[in-house]
Amino acid sequence: MKIKIAILPGDGIGPEVVKQAIKVIKTIEKKYGHNIELLEGIVGGEAIDKYGEPLPDETWKLCEESDAILLGAVGGPKWDNLPGEKRPEKALLKLRGGFNLFANIRPIKVFEKLSFSSTIKPEVLKGVDFVIVRELTGGLYFGKPKEIRVENGEEIAIDTMTYKASEIRRIAHVAFKMAQKRNKKVTSVDKANILECSRLWRKVVDEVSKEYKDVNLEHMYVDNCAMQIVRNPKQFDVILTENTFGDILSDEAAVITGSIGMLPSASLGEGTKGLYEPIHGTAPDIAGKNIANPLATILSVAMMFRYSFDLEKEAKDIENAVDKVIDMGYFTQDLFTGNPYAKQLVGTEEMGDLVCKVIEGGA
Ligand code: NAD
Repeated sequence: MKIKIAILPGDGIGPEVVKQAIKVIKTIEKKYGHNIELLEGIVGGEAIDKYGEPLPDETWKLCEESDAILLGAVGGPKWDNLPGEKRPEKALLKLRGGFNLFANIRPIKVFEKLSFSSTIKPEVLKGVDFVIVRELTGGLYFGKPKEIRVENGEEIAIDTMTYKASEIRRIAHVAFKMAQKRNKKVTSVDKANILECSRLWRKVVDEVSKEYKDVNLEHMYVDNCAMQIVRNPKQFDVILTENTFGDILSDEAAVITGSIGMLPSASLGEGTKGLYEPIHGTAPDIAGKNIANPLATILSVAMMFRYSFDLEKEAKDIENAVDKVIDMGYFTQDLFTGNPYAKQLVGTEEMGDLVCKVIEGGA
């Protein structure tokens, strides 16, 4: 298969983890005889320094030409004081909005041997396997007006949360379809006791659910959901939620997997082009030290093979290799401490090499 992938490493640990993902892509290319072209682009803080903007035209064009986009992470203290439009994170919003990637899929799966790396009791985590389906192009992050202005001599900040019924409907369909292939349960998360957006959300989700008689639907307030995720995460199959709630809940869910360095994501639209990225940020505290966990980015590549290229066997091969490396007790620093299954502490590069070796059949 002929494939073009835009590679946007970004800032902080982005380039380190993306480098490992590239090794995995090349290993898969060789093993399965695909023809994969990698087009590297500049994004985030690095792009601001060089071109004065977080997503230069060149990078946008390269993403347009590609079948899928792999992104590391963007941002860092150096760019924290820039105005909203010029911040590194704006690149993410432009990519998501520009390609209409409205569905963010975040699988939360507990690798049994990593349950001891979490701060939550292992018995609470055993067998946890759910997916967060987060709406990605609406709500607070995109609503207008969005500004800081002066009124009566005082600064006032305004963010606007809006949702159209059509935006809710299309993401609800994604969640119900996903649940049909899993354990047939959707938990729709909102704040319908307070927010108008949530009241519309609940109404539309109820309507959509009538088309999926085989899927059980429950509604849950976001504050309760935040508690339930750490209290009894096994109850969830597919969590469906809006942009801001999904952003926060998925970071919380990272605790379940033992480290934020384990969580991949896919952002999808109507077509097959998708944006794949780990859910973590640029981790400035550990950047450049070869200690970042690259598995979230590697698992994002597996999602890319599954969702953008419809290559399930290749996706499974990557996921099985990650399983095996963990099973053998090779852990990066974020997972190592306090875990009785940890046998060998490995760095970012070594972890990437191990996954490739297993894919090649050499481990
Ligand atoms: P972060 O995810 O970068 O880091 C949070 C904590 O998790 C840190 O202690 C970090 O060391 C650790 N961590 C993160 N990824 C890890 C990995 N792969 N392996 C091991 N440990 C890991 O979040 P933050 O500190 O809130 O944000 C840092 C910067 O990243 C900010 O500028 C923020 O805006 C940006 N950010 C970008 C994205 C993105 O590009 N998608 C997402 C979140 C944050």
